[in-house]
Amino acid sequence: MSGAFDAFDAIVIGGGAAGLMCGIAAGRRGRRVALIEHSSDIGKKILISGGGRCNFTNLHCSPRNFLSANPHFAKSALARYTPADFIAMVEKHRIPYHEKTLGQLFCDRSAHDIVGMLRSECGEAGVRIVTGCEVSEVRRPGEFVVKSSRGEFHAPALVIATGGLSIPKTGATDLGYRVAKQFGVKVRACRPALTPLLVSGYAEISGVSAEVVAAAGDREFRERMLFTHRGLSGPAILQVSSYWEPGAVVRIDLLPEVEILAELIARRSERTETKTIVAAHLPRRLADLWFERNAVSKPVTTASDRELERLAEGLHNWEILPRGVEGYEKAEVTAGGVDTDELSARTFESKAAPGLYFIGEVVDVTGHLGGFNFQWAWASGHAAGESL
Ligand SMILES: Cc1cc2nc3c(=O)[nH]c(=O)nc-3n(C[C@H](O)[C@H](O)[C@H](O)COP(=O)(O)OP(=O)(O)OC[C@H]3O[C@@H](n4cnc5c(N)ncnc54)[C@H](O)[C@@H]3O)c2cc1C
Repeated sequence: MSGAFDAFDAIVIGGGAAGLMCGIAAGRRGRRVALIEHSSDIGKKILISGGGRCNFTNLHCSPRNFLSANPHFAKSALARYTPADFIAMVEKHRIPYHEKTLGQLFCDRSAHDIVGMLRSECGEAGVRIVTGCEVSEVRRPGEFVVKSSRGEFHAPALVIATGGLSIPKTGATDLGYRVAKQFGVKVRACRPALTPLLVSGYAEISGVSAEVVAAAGDREFRERMLFTHRGLSGPAILQVSSYWEPGAVVRIDLLPEVEILAELIARRSERTETKTIVAAHLPRRLADLWFERNAVSKPVTTASDRELERLAEGLHNWEILPRGVEGYEKAEVTAGGVDTDELSARTFESKAAPGLYFIGEVVDVTGHLGGFNFQWAWASGHAAGESL
């Protein structure tokens, strides 16, 4: 870069949620920040988030809503920049929003409101945003030097906010992981998370959905599950996909609201088929297919106690063996990333390379579905921006 913008205190690579928040926090403190984005505009992932309405935070955000090799790492930043802090900014900009469900806050109008707000805050904080800027090299002869299609940027601090690998068409690249490795910062294996599960054999009920409790490992989620041509999706499944290990089963409670055994026993004197009783609580096509694969329907009068118990157990604890997960094209986030042991939980500066910071999704902290990933981006970006 030439001219008045030559001297920067910090370069931020990545004009997404975390990078923009970091620029705002640092700029407000008088730091001269250059924010480099290779896409034609900032915030492209924000624009497609939450079905175009951006689920920008969650009222019930807590460290339990995040996965990381170190479950304590996120606590400090989350405590220092809370959903209330972000909501205050949204309200200052008079952006109308609503709670959809489970504490999830969405824009009433569109995600453009959030990007517009961040752009205007960056403007006020004097952040120099440079879009269409391809990074070709990062060096550190003394200061950091970022060589790009728009010239060279120099600064004593470099913040990597390049996000994860999900949805490559929104501009995702592996630059952040490459820079980490270049400077000796360890990166944990990455994998797609919040993504549909690939399961064979349910295409015929594609489009059917039900409220379930889905569990993988030691975590369970009560939300909707959707059958698709390629397997299972819907919020409950996206949530468990983050915890699912290849080769493991996913357990589904198809009737979380219903004590089906008690109901079957209570109706013992009836001639009604067991399937008819169950189907009253499930979409018909799902009940048909489940019985076809897992149980023989018979009049409840003729079923033994053991048969009814087995039927109830099967419905409350249906085991499905996925053959994999959908890849980064469908995943909302990337789990894994820059190892949190390498970073200060207060400032996000790397221990191996002082002056080099990593924030947002590129770090090994992954939120649940429901506004938590943005809250992590805001909180980590703010923490780094406060320390630059
Ligand atoms: C379809 C979809 C919907 C989602 N909906 C929600 C939601 O409603 N709520 C929620 O909390 N989370 C949601 N997420 C997750 C959320 O969008 C991300 O976790 C969040 O954007 C991460 O912020 P970030 O700043 O770390 O990364 P990003 O927002 O991905 O920003 C990274 C930026 O870096 C830029 N970049 C990458 N490589 C380079 C490079 N080499 N040079 C220069 N710039 C580069 C990218 O173009 C991008 O602008 C959704 C994700 C997807 C894919």
